[in-house]
Amino acid sequence: MAPTERIAVVGAGIIGCAIAFELSRRGAAVSVFDGRSLGGGATQASAGILAPYIEAHEGGPLFELTVRGLSAYDRFVRQLRAVSPIPFEYGRPGTLEIAEDAGRARELRARLSARWAASAGLEWLDAERLEALVRCIHTGAVGALLCAVHGYVAAGPFIAAMADAAQRLGARFHLGTAVTGVDLESSGVCVDTAGESTTADRVVLCAGSWTPAIDPLRQTADRIRPVRGQLVRLSAPELRLRHVLWGRSCYIVPWHDGTLLVGATSEDVGFDERTTAEGVRGLLTAAEGLIPDLRSATFVDVRAGLRPATVDELPILGPAGDPRIIYAAGHYRNGVLLAPFTAQLISNYVFDSVIDPAFSAT
Ligand SMILES: Cc1cc2nc3c(=O)[nH]c(=O)nc-3n(C[C@H](O)[C@H](O)[C@H](O)COP(=O)(O)OP(=O)(O)OC[C@H]3O[C@@H](n4cnc5c(N)ncnc54)[C@H](O)[C@@H]3O)c2cc1C
Repeated sequence: MAPTERIAVVGAGIIGCAIAFELSRRGAAVSVFDGRSLGGGATQASAGILAPYIEAHEGGPLFELTVRGLSAYDRFVRQLRAVSPIPFEYGRPGTLEIAEDAGRARELRARLSARWAASAGLEWLDAERLEALVRCIHTGAVGALLCAVHGYVAAGPFIAAMADAAQRLGARFHLGTAVTGVDLESSGVCVDTAGESTTADRVVLCAGSWTPAIDPLRQTADRIRPVRGQLVRLSAPELRLRHVLWGRSCYIVPWHDGTLLVGATSEDVGFDERTTAEGVRGLLTAAEGLIPDLRSATFVDVRAGLRPATVDELPILGPAGDPRIIYAAGHYRNGVLLAPFTAQLISNYVFDSVIDPAFSAT
């Protein structure tokens, strides 16, 4: 690829921002378009958990992909921090999957014999050791599975750093600028916005749940659908939680400042991005079931986002039909986990024509 090749990125969620940073870092001239503000789609509601061994522990292509996703993180974060001074919280304190009863404990302990148990840092903690780590845990908990390599990132500040870094490297962000169409012309690919048309050499489509609406090749039609997730934010610094907790009906992500993210609902309600009384009630009840002291936590806010779900739960990645149109959409429950790795795959394709086995756009 010539260093001055022009690449348009449609969507400034976590996938678009990671790709914009990575392509800019490697010398492309990048323009990013988003009809909303930075991360205004699913990304702003995300819990930012990086947990392949929970999300895909039963194996298969999603397992391979998410494990590769986690292993791409440290280097990406280092490269990002070398360019942008915007701070963001990224930690790998591990997850604790809580066993509320003996049956769940048996299920969780069975994972200790998985071939990947050692590389994931799996360890069983009995009730006493669990309570030593999480003093406020519900007294009925019978133990927990620690997965030491798991972590989290604060998605909002993380993408702010990516966008800042990409812009420092020359990328241009057009926020509040919805793309109305993408047309293949002999001169290049035209990205249409209200009243303007920009010509690029290639376009990366990463508009999350909305990707089918701007897909000129119709490769994503009927393959991506929105699944709403609601997430509540509380504040309880006095509880001094350090690990990501994962119960049967909710998870809790603790940030250093005492903020706790409690997620998440999973609702098939089309493009309805409202937060609901029922969603909040369910999450608070589940969180109090794990940590009874959360009854007196400060309520901060509630968010909703549309996860871009695919039929097989795998993202749609790579070129399809025309090499000028590149897909990076449909990351469903794992877009944060997979963002750095997705950016790496897309830039390896753009710069070195590498077709990764994970490419699935056709
Ligand atoms: C409650 C909740 C919790 C989650 N927790 C986790 C988690 O812990 N870990 C994890 O890995 N993942 C998690 N996810 C999933 C993750 O948030 C998503 O997979 C990820 O945000 C998808 O990113 P994206 O950039 O593809 O899509 P989005 O963030 O939705 O971004 C798409 C962008 O495209 C823009 N756009 C759409 N149409 C157009 C157009 N025509 N023109 C221009 N721009 C357009 C939108 O405005 C939007 O900004 C969670 C999701 C939710 C909802």
